Amino acid sequence: VIQARLRLICLTLAVFGTLRPAAFARNRKLKDPTDLRIATQVLRSLLASPVGETMPRLRYRVVLVSKLIPNAFAERDGTVYITEGLLPVFEGDRGVWAAVIGHELGHILLAHREALERFEGGIRQAYESARADGYDQGPVDWPAADLSDRAGKPKPAKEQEYEADFIGLMLMADAGYQPGYSVILEKRLLFGVGSEPKFVAFFSHHPRLQSREERTVKVSGMAMDIFRSRWPDAAKSPGGNLPPYGTIGPWTFEQADGGRELVFRVPFQVHRSAGMAIRVAGFFLDGDLRVRSAIAKYRATDGSLVINRFVRGAESESSQVTLQVPTQDLILRHHSVLAVVFLMADGRPLDLGARHVHLPDIPLSSIPAARRDTAKKALQ
Ligand SMILES: [Zn+2]
Repeated sequence: VIQARLRLICLTLAVFGTLRPAAFARNRKLKDPTDLRIATQVLRSLLASPVGETMPRLRYRVVLVSKLIPNAFAERDGTVYITEGLLPVFEGDRGVWAAVIGHELGHILLAHREALERFEGGIRQAYESARADGYDQGPVDWPAADLSDRAGKPKPAKEQEYEADFIGLMLMADAGYQPGYSVILEKRLLFGVGSEPKFVAFFSHHPRLQSREERTVKVSGMAMDIFRSRWPDAAKSPGGNLPPYGTIGPWTFEQADGGRELVFRVPFQVHRSAGMAIRVAGFFLDGDLRVRSAIAKYRATDGSLVINRFVRGAESESSQVTLQVPTQDLILRHHSVLAVVFLMADGRPLDLGARHVHLPDIPLSSIPAARRDTAKKALQ
């Protein structure tokens, strides 16, 4: 019984804590022995590098747990638990497995404070050797990683998450998994597990996730130096080249033509997506429900409205699309809704953004008669 034992806090629960497990039923996979095999191989590789060898001597293992809530957590004895609900984020990417397992190993190390100094010595050596080889993306001076300085004093939970991230990134880099995989993991968690963003609870502002990303960016230079000096050819590293990834830039939403037209302008960047279909899409959420469409053009198979644009992917590309929909094609129950945009490459989720918007009142009488019945029915 896991709950009865010491459980080290973890990242994903905070993000997904409010989701209804039923929402995950569709994504449920039967436990596949391949998953455990990959997880175990990744765990071994993280512990086998020179930095990994400075970890405390424990009987490390990964256990997959039959729970639909996506989460990962660890125990002091060296056990890393990953729930079945988290499996869809991996998409076969060993680097994403390494990002989750590395972070959990970070918690295990933090629970053995007597081992911190040795570990810090290990990364310091790896980093100094990388700098001596001419890699210089990280800071000149050894940054105050501060893992062992305050040994003995309990740290706030949030600080422990930062430290687990830091430890995880260093283990990853030394073992041959690019720090970019941690960013990809963050994006996939933010997106929500599945082929389309289905979950709304985590759209609301999540400061910790944001600052985690900032911290990730700060130490990623160091991790990159260690990675490059150990694995000059990324394609031959255990994590391999990064899968497609991308970011939505500062996007805008406006009501044009006196409120009759709704317009999203979405700048985005995509990488490693040559030959793929890049999908930029927008929709609206009214509470837990997707706003429905009165006409077929913008209707997804479930009747909800979605505005899609497809562009061709590239090795590295910055672009912008405009998504437009006539306001009268929306079937609204409330006027305060969440506008959501998302970015995908060949069905892989890359990024999303959401914000609250207020839509104008469109009287039912302004909807052409042919569509009025559909609209009325949907509102009942
Ligand atoms: Zn954690």
